[in-house]
Amino acid sequence: MAARIIDGAAIGREIRAEVAADTARLRAEGTVPGLAVVLVGSDPASEVYVAAKTRACHEAGMHDRLVRLPGEVSAEELLGTIDGLNADPRIHGVLVQLPLPAHINAKAVLGRIHPAKDVDGFHPLNVGRAFIGDPRGFCPATPAGIMELLRRERIETHGRHAVIVGRSLIVSKPLASLLMAPGPNATVTLAHRHTTDLAAHTRMADILVVAVGKPGLITADMVKPGVAVFDVGTTRVADASHAKGFVIRGDVDFAGVAEKASHITPVPGGVGPMTIAMLLRNTVEAARRTHAKAKDPAPGT
Ligand code: NAP
Repeated sequence: MAARIIDGAAIGREIRAEVAADTARLRAEGTVPGLAVVLVGSDPASEVYVAAKTRACHEAGMHDRLVRLPGEVSAEELLGTIDGLNADPRIHGVLVQLPLPAHINAKAVLGRIHPAKDVDGFHPLNVGRAFIGDPRGFCPATPAGIMELLRRERIETHGRHAVIVGRSLIVSKPLASLLMAPGPNATVTLAHRHTTDLAAHTRMADILVVAVGKPGLITADMVKPGVAVFDVGTTRVADASHAKGFVIRGDVDFAGVAEKASHITPVPGGVGPMTIAMLLRNTVEAARRTHAKAKDPAPGT
């Protein structure tokens, strides 16, 4: 069997067009959705991600602001910057690009972003809301993007076994709660570094999501025929034949696994473009909520 290759770039473009239409409607009513991205230091991969996010915002007709801080910035200064963005009415979404330098407490920083502007969904309040299925929160963009790929590719989740390799707060844990929730109704297994006999678990998967950061971790002998595979991993691997000196590799041995799978996401061009699209969707949603509240400031909304 040769798998259907899920074109995350094309689906991401569809979502971005929907976001652009929502943005235009809000603009016409006087609210320009705005996203602020805070970049501390100059990690090359972070520079690339941040540039992609701000460019996508601009293309969707949103207001985008990149706040650059030096790698040696103090925690107080960074928290003060977030306070300023929390208070700025032109900014509806605030995200701090991770990773942060070691001297900064990332949890304290993420917890400082106002939950209503936390479009990355990493504030503890939004983590809890996602976990209990409260739609007032924001779901992190990568797991939301995988759910959207499942929906748009019409891949059945109901009653099926989803195995997620990795247990991060950014991808795997929120994805587990989304997949097991009423509606998707999947049975979910989370595996990690300490899982005994990883292959025994991955071979049981109807839906396999791999979010580890180890190129080639999942090989064809570790999956069953007909599995739908979502490769989240993005690792830079040195490659002198490429102009940049590296290529981006996923966690899945694409060629081998594609022979057995029903669906598979490529790297790049699979899950990655969905992450940016869903971030934009969260930002326009944050702006829509602020706009609705300004028109009807009823308590408790
Ligand atoms: P992370 O915080 O980097 O953690 C990796 C997870 O993999 C951990 O839970 C770790 O287990 C587990 N792990 C490590 N080695 C393993 C092994 N041999 N077998 C099974 N599990 C193993 O995870 P993340 O932030 O979710 O990132 C994972 C990858 O996805 C990275 O390559 C990242 O760059 C990429 N990513 C891509 C996107 C995108 O938009 N495409 C978005 C986010 C992340 P322990 O907990 O036991 O250490």
